[in-house]
Amino acid sequence: MKTALIFIETSQGKIKKSSQEALSVFAGNEFNLITCSVGEDSSLPIELKSWGVKKHFVCEGLKTYNPESYQNFLAQVFETTQPQFFLASSNNLSRDVFPRLAAQFNAAYMSDVTEISVSPELVVRRPLYSGKCSAQVTYTDESAKIILIRPNQIEVKCPNKSENLDVVKLNVEVKNSRSQTLTIESGETEVLDLTEAETIVSGGRGLKEAENFKLLHDLAAPLGATVGASRAVVDLGWVGHNLQVGQTGKTVAPTLYVAVGISGAIQHLAGMSGSKNIVAINKDEKAPIFQKATYGIVGDLFEVVPLLTEKLKSL
Ligand code: FAD
Repeated sequence: MKTALIFIETSQGKIKKSSQEALSVFAGNEFNLITCSVGEDSSLPIELKSWGVKKHFVCEGLKTYNPESYQNFLAQVFETTQPQFFLASSNNLSRDVFPRLAAQFNAAYMSDVTEISVSPELVVRRPLYSGKCSAQVTYTDESAKIILIRPNQIEVKCPNKSENLDVVKLNVEVKNSRSQTLTIESGETEVLDLTEAETIVSGGRGLKEAENFKLLHDLAAPLGATVGASRAVVDLGWVGHNLQVGQTGKTVAPTLYVAVGISGAIQHLAGMSGSKNIVAINKDEKAPIFQKATYGIVGDLFEVVPLLTEKLKSL
């Protein structure tokens, strides 16, 4: 039986949805499922059992993020388990650590994967040239593959199994580390990061000034949405770069993306055209965003957005 190893990330004691998506790839397939994670989390093993995981490696000693320590831990797990596939969610952390691991073990590496099937052979798809086309890659050899999956692409399907789970604790020690984490600062809000959000309300230059982003926060609240932005408003200093969606910002794929006062430049579309439903609010009926929109509202955002917010609050 083939072995699949999955790197698990948690939030508030629960497996993150992006990690659940990686686990879902193996639901219904016969694999020896092994997971690994960093940090103590007593409820994690119980949750992992329902995914059919047989063995879990945990590194409890790491207090701060350090790519070399993570690499050291993951390398120990990799060497012990010899997986055919090593999956993780595609994010800043994994894109920092996993290429090092791939180089160390001479494994094939693919990030930002949007579609994947693992049986009878590994077939993945990833966007190229800012989403203008995509490549489908079929792997025919048996060597190890490291695959990072873009969040919000795979349907979560928990098989609700009840396996015996073996938990193995590992320690890492990196001497003469070349990198050091000085501080970790938490983000401005408690809401989900853009890359993991199911619903995003994004604003552009049509909002006229920074203070008007309050309109978007008001709209985002009843939707439980994360607020994003176009690069134009980031460059104007209205919001931080961590909110930027697009070619030089974050790539998102929520179920609902509401673009408010955003023209739909190709560089913006590159980061959000994978959204399942796009609602565009723009006063210019010829704005390119309408070509990608599932629903379009031609109108003044200063009239439309408060009306929408009131309606949503009353539901
Ligand atoms: P605009 O293009 O100015 O559009 C504002 C829109 O608001 C217009 O369509 C207008 O009709 C509408 N509007 C105005 N008033 C109202 C109103 N009252 N009610 C309703 N609608 C109204 N951009 C990104 O977003 N992300 C990126 O990652 C990115 N990377 C880039 C990388 C490179 C190398 C380059 C060259 C550019 C990049 N850009 C990126 C910039 C991109 O080309 C656009 O300039 C930018 O997306 C425009 O932002 P915008 O839609 O907010 O502004």
